[in-house]
Amino acid sequence: MGYTYDPENIFARILRGEIPNSTVYETEHTLAFRDINPQAPVHVLVIPKGPYVSYDHFAQEASEAEIVDFTRALGKICEMEGVEAHGPGCRFISNAGHDGVQEVPHLHVHILGGRPLGRMLS
Ligand code: IMP
Repeated sequence: MGYTYDPENIFARILRGEIPNSTVYETEHTLAFRDINPQAPVHVLVIPKGPYVSYDHFAQEASEAEIVDFTRALGKICEMEGVEAHGPGCRFISNAGHDGVQEVPHLHVHILGGRPLGRMLS
């Protein structure tokens, strides 16, 4: 089954500059900004600039340059926000599709940290 990308989703509109955002970090292929409804003291959303619906879509169709850029951005943001695994730690979450309760159909990784996050596997 192919992936269908909706170019009117809110993160596409952020990427086009139609909606303001609180940018934390930006590279050629990646944008990171603060979640509008933070669930922890650190709550950053990291998105590729390309039109990918979900992580599986990205992993299958993005270029190696995009994948490396995105992955390195995740590490850089953890460092910038002071939530690396060798420090207090953090959590990466990427909801996908209906069962994953994905609200915005553009790949995003939530980086959550700044407080104990509790167990989360349900
Ligand atoms: P999802 O449920 O994993 O798709 O999460 C979508 C996230 O996007 C939620 O945590 C929302 O609070 C966040 N969000 C929605 N609109 C905006 C916005 O305009 N700026 C920043 N975050 C947003």
